[in-house]
Amino acid sequence: MRIVVTGGAGFIGHHLCRNFLGRGDEVVCIDNFISSERGRIRPLQDEGKERFVFIEHNVCAHIKVDGVVDAVFHFASPASPIDYLNYPIQTLKVGALGTHNALGLALTKKARFLLASTSEVYGDPEIHPQSEDYWGNVNPIGPRGVYDEAKRFAEALTMAYHRTHGLQTYIARLFNTYGPGMRLEDGRAIPNFLRAAIRGEPLPVYGDGSQTRSFCYISDLVEGLIALSKSEVHDPVNLGNPAEMTIAELAEQVLKITGSGSCIEQRPLPQDDPKIRQPDIAKARALLGWEPKISVEEGLHQTAEDFQKRLSIGQK
Ligand code: NAD
Ligand code: UDP
Repeated sequence: MRIVVTGGAGFIGHHLCRNFLGRGDEVVCIDNFISSERGRIRPLQDEGKERFVFIEHNVCAHIKVDGVVDAVFHFASPASPIDYLNYPIQTLKVGALGTHNALGLALTKKARFLLASTSEVYGDPEIHPQSEDYWGNVNPIGPRGVYDEAKRFAEALTMAYHRTHGLQTYIARLFNTYGPGMRLEDGRAIPNFLRAAIRGEPLPVYGDGSQTRSFCYISDLVEGLIALSKSEVHDPVNLGNPAEMTIAELAEQVLKITGSGSCIEQRPLPQDDPKIRQPDIAKARALLGWEPKISVEEGLHQTAEDFQKRLSIGQK
């Protein structure tokens, strides 16, 4: 297989590239580093040698890839709330123009296309847990709207290509995913908590910490994405770990796992921060035979070890 990964220098993208290289595929990674580090590319080049090609490119402009392409995994987009609040227009553009170009590439090459969508399409949900038939509760003009609406548009465009052109498309609705290799300054809850705990700084809990999330370990997610891309399921599928916890509980777990003496410090809750989030994964279980295997405790241990190592050598 020859696989294009847009956003391949990002957290999930670089794990996907590693997985594809590990099973012998060729990878074309496209990224403009808007929310990632150049340093991620070198190990992939070392591992893949001539099977790994990197193209520095903003996918909002026409994407040109020479040769055969069997699949396009479209992961390019800022994903941390901090990033998409800093880059609101770039986020809207990559969800719209970037997705259009990535679909166009897949169509030209007669390749399969997988969109990294998100649980944010459900907004601040009114039903719990969230199943794929729920249409969501999104504030289109709020600060998070730039991400949520971009992904909702991306889903609509993907389905239009599937229906109009018969393109083999897949829509994965990813719930919060974490693991080794996340940027230390990523800004999402787990990297922020781990960094603070290891440095002995206060853990910044937004609001009273009663909002919930459900955290999926990266290796589980990658398995789910691969299972979906090999299936015949063209409607959206939730991929996430249903183990739901409050953010206050997450902070306590991080303190326990790192053995840190840090305290917890409340900070203002960002606008439109969803109050609850838990994936209903009945569809993924039934149609893909997939479910996560790694407990949050185990996943946090692995991630803490990686953060400890990188912080001790002053890496980003
Ligand atoms: P990330 O920020 O680590 O990676 C995104 C990558 O996309 C970065 O390398 C960035 O530089 C690149 N990128 C952004 N805009 C680009 C553009 N215009 N052209 C080329 N490259 C561009 O984020 P992540 O956590 O790895 O998320 C990857 C994808 O998965 C995103 O599409 C995100 O919306 C989706 N997702 C992630 C999560 C999660 O919990 N990690 C949850 C839901 C959805
Ligand atoms: N959060 C927090 N402290 C942080 C970062 C995030 O309390 O340093 C909260 C945030 O308000 C949200 C939850 O943790 O309720 C998950 O945030 P994250 O940015 O990881 O992802 P989201 O689910 O909001 O996209």
